Amino acid sequence: MADIIKLLPDHVANQIAAGEVVQRPASVVKELMENSIDAQATEIQLIVKDSGKTLIQVVDNGMGMSGTDARLSFERHATSKIKSAEDLFNLHTKGFRGEALASIAAIAHVDLKTKQEDQELGSRLQIEGSKVISQDVFVTPKGTSISVKNLFFNIPARRNFLKSDAVETRHIIDEFHRIALAHPKIKFSMLHNDSKVFDLPVSNLRKRIVTIFGSKTNEKLVPVSEETEIVKVNGFVIKPEFSKRSRGEQFFFVNDRFVKCPYLHHALVSAYEGLIKEGAFPGYFLYLYLDTKSIDINIHPTKTEVKFDNEQAIYAMIRSTVKHSLGQFSIAPAIDFNTDVQLDTPYEYHGKKASQPTIEVDRNFNPFRSAPSKKSANPAWEAMYVGLNQEDKSLDLEEIKFESEEVTGKLFEGKKEETHKSTFQIHNKYIISPIKSGMLVIHQNLAHQRILYEEILKNITVKEALSQQLLFPISLNFSINEIEVLKQVKEQLEHTGFMMNFSKKDEIAISGIPVVMKEDRIQPVLEQIIKDIREEVPESGFSQNDLLARSMSKNMAIKTGTPLNGEEQEHLINQLFACKEPSVSPTNKPVMMTISSNDIDKKFN
Ligand code: ADP
Ligand code: MG
Repeated sequence: MADIIKLLPDHVANQIAAGEVVQRPASVVKELMENSIDAQATEIQLIVKDSGKTLIQVVDNGMGMSGTDARLSFERHATSKIKSAEDLFNLHTKGFRGEALASIAAIAHVDLKTKQEDQELGSRLQIEGSKVISQDVFVTPKGTSISVKNLFFNIPARRNFLKSDAVETRHIIDEFHRIALAHPKIKFSMLHNDSKVFDLPVSNLRKRIVTIFGSKTNEKLVPVSEETEIVKVNGFVIKPEFSKRSRGEQFFFVNDRFVKCPYLHHALVSAYEGLIKEGAFPGYFLYLYLDTKSIDINIHPTKTEVKFDNEQAIYAMIRSTVKHSLGQFSIAPAIDFNTDVQLDTPYEYHGKKASQPTIEVDRNFNPFRSAPSKKSANPAWEAMYVGLNQEDKSLDLEEIKFESEEVTGKLFEGKKEETHKSTFQIHNKYIISPIKSGMLVIHQNLAHQRILYEEILKNITVKEALSQQLLFPISLNFSINEIEVLKQVKEQLEHTGFMMNFSKKDEIAISGIPVVMKEDRIQPVLEQIIKDIREEVPESGFSQNDLLARSMSKNMAIKTGTPLNGEEQEHLINQLFACKEPSVSPTNKPVMMTISSNDIDKKFN
């Protein structure tokens, strides 16, 4: 047989490499900005059009390139940053593979203008899909400007794979944040569709964080600083009372490079143990400096993982340093004695009492006296109770009351204030209700989630939710990125009954909320939504609605641990059985279980 192996032509090899390096517009942003930093720029401008789908341009005032280097920079494995394999163990630059520009040029239209300080004239180079279109001498200021247009123009499948503008913009902003936070001494700006998104002057770390995440962030920061033989750590952690339900503000930098590090994240979580509520995440901006020889930055171009030689020592050090900082700046006395408590509330919520969520009760309803009303009840579940009434005509409310009183009387001495019990609650968590075949155990929190989920979903799709106007509109602070997420679902949120105004860049004004919601749930509900959307990135309208309804119901549902009186319990059961799918929670957990009389009988044999 003839030989069949061929070397791939360069442009094909580059396209394949591009698949790894460039996943989305944000990847191009990262590569170009990192190149500017490696080129020692002190000012870097990012210009984006249509979430990077039309244009991504990075302009810097760095060292520039000679005409020859400009041409070479687009060759694969062309880099000025390492010369030998040994250099790999002593990296001080962001890039080193020499693949980014070649990959980007393989899948986009690239226009490079660059000039070195001591050159009279610069160069301009245009490349489309790895093909050099033109190379000229060009008048341009010192530094480099690279425009990347029509990303994936020659790979329609990849182009179609891109997410909505809102999602891609969010990825770009995330990348921009990471780089800007790692380099407070560099001036950055970002323009999107001709409007200024960020303008970050040269500053210190604290100011950089505050400029990015909003002025209210300042009071939330606790400084962290420590140095041992193996590692130096500095930065800030967020005071526990401001921790959020979203994984938004968690930044580790190793030698000024953003990294993801679940292991060290865990060190933070453990330092905050007992200080924050379950489900909340600590916020942090921590900068680690170590000998480059003692770390292994994953060589994969887009991954941001890191391995440390002294993992355990670093873990222990971070944990204790953060604990120490939290203790030292301890926040509780500071609030009690030094500052006006009202200034520390997360939003303008002053002078209002926090209220326990309660549920409305239909006082006349009794599921055992009459079958649940035909128009709302779910037939299958109705049958469960109807059976109870039909088979045993003598089993009326009095008898059930007698039964449950006997039980409560014995097990919970002194808790007899409720006399009309046909259901009862145990551990402030489950509602027990007798049915024909035995008994039903309902998980109150999951049941309420199901009820709210169906109601919210109906409101979003039918678009006729009632809104309760707030007497005093509330303004809430979020980061610009979080605001982007909320904007993405603004319409759906309004259909649930929210009335919101996005007039400021890091603040939302809320003037109305869904009727089923209590005011003190606003912040947690919105945070939950942000977190869930970030984690799931829903695309279609339906899954977005579903996600919103899930987030909101999860957060608004009566919690485990909330005592419910008899009527509240019955009302909950009534509403649950009016649901389309009463037996599973919105997150697919069982809402209830039955224990049959047979099973109980067996236990006594
Ligand atoms: P790497 O960054 O891994 O070296 P790239 O493909 O990103 O590979 O860049 C190739 C080379 O082009 C770099 O090594 C650098 O010499 C040069 N270069 C790229 N961008 C710039 C820039 N903004 N300013 C100066 N030189 C640059
Ligand atoms: Mg690079």
